[in-house]
Amino acid sequence: MKFTNRFAPSPTGPLHLGHAYSALLAHDLAQAAGGSFLLRIEDIDQSRARPEWEAQIYQDLDWLGIGWARPVMRQSDRMESYRAALDDLWARGLLYACTCNRRDIAAATSAPQEGAAPIIGPDGIIYPGTCRAAGHPRETGALRLDMAKALETLSSTPLTFLENGQGPNGETGQQTISPDQLITTVGDVVLARRDMGTSYHLSVVLDDAAQKVTLVPRGADLFEATQIHVVLQALLGLPKPCYHHHRLIRDEAGKRLAKRDDARAIALYRESGTTPQEIRDMVGL
Ligand code: GLU
Ligand code: ZN
Repeated sequence: MKFTNRFAPSPTGPLHLGHAYSALLAHDLAQAAGGSFLLRIEDIDQSRARPEWEAQIYQDLDWLGIGWARPVMRQSDRMESYRAALDDLWARGLLYACTCNRRDIAAATSAPQEGAAPIIGPDGIIYPGTCRAAGHPRETGALRLDMAKALETLSSTPLTFLENGQGPNGETGQQTISPDQLITTVGDVVLARRDMGTSYHLSVVLDDAAQKVTLVPRGADLFEATQIHVVLQALLGLPKPCYHHHRLIRDEAGKRLAKRDDARAIALYRESGTTPQEIRDMVGL
């Protein structure tokens, strides 16, 4: 299969040095392999996505010397595909509607007599299962994956993925995900937020498959989320790409950069006369 990778930013703020590193690394990998580099605009959060930020993504990447295949996939155009996958999982009894808010979940997981802190997974506190058997109608809440039930429907072969880069603790090579680990440290994740009709996890998995992505390069902060993606690929019968998690670019204080770190926005470097080569040097490429 043809080597294909991608950069998948959300147009919710300026790209900063961390994004530049991710995009340049992906682009370099695709060039070295003689493959394709794709761009995907992850704009499912319509309350935060802005056309100006999307326009700036194109300008920044162009200035960095990155060319991408057209047309660009935009998640906001893909809602029907997300809906179809949810219909399928719902019909198989693997989803349930959850009407809890953050406060309900925090209250259900606090155990003052034991004083133990709740386990935090890739999406926050592990969901205590309050609504699992409640039978709420589909449209009344967020849709959660019944993780234990979903794993039972998968064949007994262990879930695995190939890590070409490195996880936050140096994980590399073949990774095996145990069902117990998924149930206790990931749990019943939300696959469709009520206000969005989808979630990062569901969309990213369906889109990487639709774009025939063979390698997913992204920050090591998403390493834990990859196990959710591997479960979804198995449930939905999708091909499984390889992963290349990479180090995060940090500020002088060692804090990872966030969208609000405007001082490190690529656009500001660009306007102040920094060259693309200097950006490469700054991120260690
Ligand atoms: N849209 C995600 C972000 O901007 C990246 C998702 C991914 O690479 O899987 O953080
Ligand atoms: Zn609930």
